[in-house]
Amino acid sequence: MSGQSAFIRNLELEWATAQDLYRFAQQLVQTPSPSAGEGDIAALIVGHLKALGFPDVRVNAMGSVIATLGNGRGPTLLYDAHMDTVSVPVPESWPHPPLAGVIDDGILYGLGAIDMKSAIASMVYGARQLLPYQDQLNGTLVLAFVVQEEPCEGLAVRVLIEEDGIRPDFVLLGNATGLQISRGQRGRVMFRITVKGEASHGSQPDLGRNSIYAAARLVFSIQLMADELPRDSFLGPGTIAVTGIESRGASLNAIPDRCKVYVDRRLTLGETVNAAQAQLEGMIRREDIPAIVEITTYNEPSYTGSVHIAREAHPAWVLDRNHPLVTALGQTIAAVRNGTPDIGHWPFSTAGVYTMGQATIPTVGFGPGDPNLVHTNREHVHLDDLKTAAHVYAGMAASLLMGGDG
Ligand SMILES: [Zn+2]
Repeated sequence: MSGQSAFIRNLELEWATAQDLYRFAQQLVQTPSPSAGEGDIAALIVGHLKALGFPDVRVNAMGSVIATLGNGRGPTLLYDAHMDTVSVPVPESWPHPPLAGVIDDGILYGLGAIDMKSAIASMVYGARQLLPYQDQLNGTLVLAFVVQEEPCEGLAVRVLIEEDGIRPDFVLLGNATGLQISRGQRGRVMFRITVKGEASHGSQPDLGRNSIYAAARLVFSIQLMADELPRDSFLGPGTIAVTGIESRGASLNAIPDRCKVYVDRRLTLGETVNAAQAQLEGMIRREDIPAIVEITTYNEPSYTGSVHIAREAHPAWVLDRNHPLVTALGQTIAAVRNGTPDIGHWPFSTAGVYTMGQATIPTVGFGPGDPNLVHTNREHVHLDDLKTAAHVYAGMAASLLMGGDG
């Protein structure tokens, strides 16, 4: 065993520290944090980081929490997790109230228990393990707990890099991987297709053109397109799905002249945003549907009132399996728990669409929780996994920023 893996093993959390980690994760679940409403949870995290002795904790103009360890020399490693959660349409369908933070038999239940409050807690307690070694860091660890990631992944981390001057050499995302390694994901585009018709009185439909009928042909054609999308051997196929339809005429006694169809398009490796749009437009021309295709934009103000506009179009990305970042993470996980992790990809989209997809900063993923439980009413996480994740986060930063002792 090398000196480095011995050092990593010694970063394991003691029993009492692990209890503090679990309590913090529970508090995070109990603190509501809808997208653009993360003020309370940001304050909780800032207070906790300061109480633990983190030397440099701040909140940027957008409202993301940033904690920095190190002296500014050497490489910068960014740990990123989002503070916001999706909404809960039917709270009664959950086994425990989604904001109660129930812990039962070593399992934490609730909204954000995985996505991504357990990652936030584990990153905080992992970095805490390095506080005694701050003078020995040959680099900088930045913890970033960001806002508005659910509606617009990559936006808040883009602001950190382009406006706040954080310049990571490596990024680790805490999105759920079941404690395995993720090194990529498919891209995502949200299209809004506006189908045009002509209004008339509902009693005289022949005098108008019903946009819903044209939209029905569009929906059927999109369903047929789904079978023809390309496949990548690692990321799998591109997908397309109609996820919303809106139509309002002058009344329910009127022929509607507008129908909007929303399309969730996932891009596999090799597909581009422009090509996906051209493909839809080509189909619409061939089928002679009177419609225009647009990419939606996100422009909600953050809880601090800052506004950033982002196109909801994100590329697929993959980090090479043999990249040193993947290797370092694999060795760290092996040192922590004596086993080789799986190396795969996320089914969903993450802030990596910006860090790796656009900014080409080597990005890798590791987080507690089953990725298949994210955005479901069954969301829960084993507390033991938080302790393991914190240990890996501590070890990974040590391995990248304290290396060279062999
Ligand atoms: Zn999510």
